[in-house]
Amino acid sequence: MIDIHCHILPRTDDGPKDVAESLQMAQQAVLDGIDTIIATPHHKNGQYDNPKSLILDKVQEMNQRLEEENINLTILPGQEVRIFGELLEEYKLEEILTLNNGGQYLFIEFPSNHVPRYTKKLIYDLQLNGLIPVIVHPERNREIIAEPELLYQLVKDGALTQVTASSITGSFGKTIQKFSMQLIEAELTHFIASDAHNITNRPFQLAQSYGAIEKKYGLDSVYVFQENAQLLISGKNVYKEEPQRVKRKKVLGIF
Ligand code: FE
Repeated sequence: MIDIHCHILPRTDDGPKDVAESLQMAQQAVLDGIDTIIATPHHKNGQYDNPKSLILDKVQEMNQRLEEENINLTILPGQEVRIFGELLEEYKLEEILTLNNGGQYLFIEFPSNHVPRYTKKLIYDLQLNGLIPVIVHPERNREIIAEPELLYQLVKDGALTQVTASSITGSFGKTIQKFSMQLIEAELTHFIASDAHNITNRPFQLAQSYGAIEKKYGLDSVYVFQENAQLLISGKNVYKEEPQRVKRKKVLGIF
């Protein structure tokens, strides 16, 4: 399996604090059935800055370490970029790193409480520059949970999205779990990834989440997500269906 969102590089962000912890994560990933990981350190989130060149160096170092340790895992470069106004300018200055450095797919993270008003324009401008924005974990964003129409419009405008494996398994609670399933049903998500930070409270759970998806939606659905991860790292177009609006059940006839 391929995991396209993971904080596995040592001393880089709120992921592993040293090489030993990174290697523990790598071993855990292999046990979970993962053979390829895109390392996606936080960038510009107010706490961590990890520009492109730094990540490329660290990924190379990490792969060397994995080889020395005989761990059968390949790390590819990536970045989890917090949305900011000058994103496109910084991309042109080579500070921003696309997934697998392919010059195409780009992770965009929103602040956890809201969706900035300039998002629509930025999503448009990124695509004008040949980039495909992938919104990470929309199911954990408070404003999107309250108003899924926001996400529907962004996907309609060409954005892709990635739901976190542990949201599907229920580790973030019932509301987020249920919402994740609604996003799958409404064709509002295109990738499942771990967003693992460690082996304790933020582990991989990728196999487990695919198991849950298989149980609810069948193996075909799992294959589409897995194939999309492969297509993304190969720089090809991913599968997507026409997005629909999230259906909300009426509560006591209030709405
Ligand atoms: Fe992340």
